[in-house]
Amino acid sequence: MHTPYFLIDKAHIEHNLKVLRKVMDDTGCKILLAQKCFSCYGVYPLVSQYLSGATSSGLFEARLCHEEMPDRENHIFSPAFREEDIEEICQICDHIVFNTPVQLLRFGQKAKDAGLEVGLRINPECSTQVGHSIYDPCAPGSRLGTTLKVFEESIGNNPSLLSLIDGLHFHTLCEQNSDDLKTTLDAVVARFGKYLHHMKWINFGGGHHITRSDYDISLLESCIIEMRDKYSLQVYLEPGEAIALNAGYLCASILEIQPADEQGISNVILDTSAACHMPDVIEMPYTPPLQHSRIISSDELHNPTNSNYIYRLGGPTCLSGDIIGLYQFDHELCVGEEILFEDMAIYSMVKTNTFNGMPLPDIYIKDSSHDIHLWKSFTYHDFKHRI
Ligand SMILES: *Cc1c(COP(=O)(O)O)cnc(C)c1O
Repeated sequence: MHTPYFLIDKAHIEHNLKVLRKVMDDTGCKILLAQKCFSCYGVYPLVSQYLSGATSSGLFEARLCHEEMPDRENHIFSPAFREEDIEEICQICDHIVFNTPVQLLRFGQKAKDAGLEVGLRINPECSTQVGHSIYDPCAPGSRLGTTLKVFEESIGNNPSLLSLIDGLHFHTLCEQNSDDLKTTLDAVVARFGKYLHHMKWINFGGGHHITRSDYDISLLESCIIEMRDKYSLQVYLEPGEAIALNAGYLCASILEIQPADEQGISNVILDTSAACHMPDVIEMPYTPPLQHSRIISSDELHNPTNSNYIYRLGGPTCLSGDIIGLYQFDHELCVGEEILFEDMAIYSMVKTNTFNGMPLPDIYIKDSSHDIHLWKSFTYHDFKHRI
């Protein structure tokens, strides 16, 4: 196995799927995989055994679900659809969610005539994320979702709009617990409650960290049951992260260790890159967990208690900021040593790129009997072909 490579742990994915399946069984809700987070279709047969289907951000993801998760529900949402995609979407999807009443008016009847269920994404104007506006669809100026004001003006101008809508969709959370869902749901009901009686379903979106150890599943279930019973709604959830949380690794090798600076920290160059292989490290930003080490905060760096074996790990690209983080190890690192980043199945493979001509990491899948299979390998051709 040549580094860098991703390793997907199917047993852990199945563990997550069992947790999600129990929520479905307890409440009658349907749970979909949000493919934008994780679309390694080598495990879609496993996902299909547990979940109701998948959701897509556009035609390509919808096609992937159609091909690799046949017999399951295929939902699609986009902030704006392309005219030329609508026909194929209508053939392969069974639910379509529009972002605005204008989009709904443009394409809604066509989708309904083709037999799809039609939804509208709402903006409940309830921010529950602090200091993270890039992931907050309720932030001021958001282009995602329809506010109550816009909704009511549109219905005022065109009362037949309401009869096009089978369900409402909101997506406002990111890596959050069910207390924030509860807060959001209260805002949804306060604003849109009077329309919920007209609906068949409500989609709570993603961002529910259901498979994280401190997640309050019983509060989630009571939120679902309340909407189900009070308004006779089918509830959908469409998490991405919760399906593949902690179910993947990125293995890399140490190419070079530079001499220590005055603080005793050495720069280490790896054969993986934050910019190319884990862009969320820079975009979000966050520091990924790494086996046999601990993350050093910058506070700690300025007040060190023990500064042995602290390294700054970075990629081999020309970007100065291609830094994965500062880590303390329990031993001295050496060139050629392999290290394993954890929780690397989510928003990683779907976001890789070949900036600087970086090779893409191969992808391996470890099955439940611990056998490891090569799923995808990449070459120079993959770099050349895309440009
Ligand atoms: C991103 C997204 C999801 C999945 O979010 P996770 O944070 O991965 O659970 C679901 N629905 C929509 C509309 C999204 O944009």
